[in-house]
Order: sequence, then C-alpha cells, then structure tokens
Amino acid sequence: MKPITSKKTLARVLQQLKGFEKPKIRLEQYMTEPEVAADVLWECYMQGDTVDKTVADLGAGTGILGLGMLLLDASKVFFVEQDAEAIAIAKSNLALLEEEGYELGEAVFIVDKVENFNESVDVVVQNPPFGTKEKHADKVFLERAFIVGKVVYSLHKTATKAFVEAITKDHEFSVDRYKNYSYPLKASFSHHRRAVELILVTLWRFVK
Ligand code: SAH
Repeated sequence: MKPITSKKTLARVLQQLKGFEKPKIRLEQYMTEPEVAADVLWECYMQGDTVDKTVADLGAGTGILGLGMLLLDASKVFFVEQDAEAIAIAKSNLALLEEEGYELGEAVFIVDKVENFNESVDVVVQNPPFGTKEKHADKVFLERAFIVGKVVYSLHKTATKAFVEAITKDHEFSVDRYKNYSYPLKASFSHHRRAVELILVTLWRFVK
C-alpha cells in the first residue's frame, strides 16, 4: 500500500495519467490539469468526502477525477462517460496506477450519457463541458448530480454563477463553499485563436 500523504504527491501521481488522444470538440473534451485536479480532490479529502465513500465521476473522460478519488481511499467510483474511446484511456490509467502498487477501491466504468445514470452515491465529482460548444451543456450534469448525490463537487465557468446557483435552488441543494481557479486552457482545438487562453473557473461544493 502506497498512501498519498500530500496534495503535491497526488499531483505528481496524476501527472502520469494519459490524456485524450484525439479530443472531440463537440463533447468539449479537456482533461482537468493535474495540478487543478489535485487541488480539487484535496479539497474533497479535507471535507471528509473521499475515505470509504461511493462516488460518481460524471463525464469522466480519461478518469483523472475519479481515479484521484480512489487514490484518496474512496470505496467505489462510477466512471460515467459517453465516449468509449475516453473510457478505454481511463481503464488504462487505472491499470497504470495498479501496476505502480496502489491498492484501490472498486472502479465501475459505464459508457453512457450521464442523463441515464441512476445509482445513488455519497459524492459526485465532475468537470462537465462548460457549454462553449453547446449552450448550458453543463445543465444535465448538475441536474443528474443532484438526483444521485448527497454532496456534489462541480466545476463551471465562474461567469455562469447565476445559472449554476439557480439550478441548485430548484433541486433543494445549497452552496456550502466554493473556490475560484484561473488557469490556462491549452489550445488543443484548432478553433482557439490564441495559443493559451486564461479561463476563470469555480469549484462549487453543494449539499442537500
Ligand atoms: N472529467 C474529465 C473530462 C472533462 S471533459 C476531466 O476532468 O478530465 C468533459 C467530458 O464529458 C468529456 O469526456 C465528454 O466526452 C463527456 N461528456 C459530454 N457530454 C456528456 C454526456 N451527456 N454524458 C456523458 N459524458 C459526456
């Protein structure tokens, strides 16, 4: 057993994971930067939302958030992702961690839309599409998270605060805390004009 004892160690482990091979624009496939992911996950850990918890990573992509939850001793993580190619990478990322000797809880991979996911979990952690290709693409993620989870961690563009908090109220959840991030979005897609664009993102923690 190799325990993760700091945010720094976690970031270093997450840095080895494989990203999207050919990111799909329509699905807004961006991998959360390992440093940001480690910060988000450490926040979950400090709030007591990882150890022995069942977790759903909605729009899991290559799995960085859900795998981080397993590294922080979640008992079971559902990786829900509609793109089979991304899930294949998430599976290989899990295999990599196991080869390195990490003893992880159960991983369940589901190739489907988050709209169809119906398992109740303790915690949802998600970095959904921000809706830059399809307006409010993150709405279905929030709605689903509030149906299946008791505690929800969700990343959205800071500019969509009013929209995010309105959906929250409709589902009888409330904002417990939030944290702002500003980080460069790498130009993995050709439609980005500048090489690097800074985006302002907020991590919300919602509770029922
Ligand atoms: N959570 C990952 C990936 C973020 S990108 C990370 O943090 O690195 C958003 C992901 O959501 C993409 O992998 C995309 O394929 C997926 N996605 C978009 N719409 C979806 C939907 N309706 N159902 C399931 N997955 C979806």
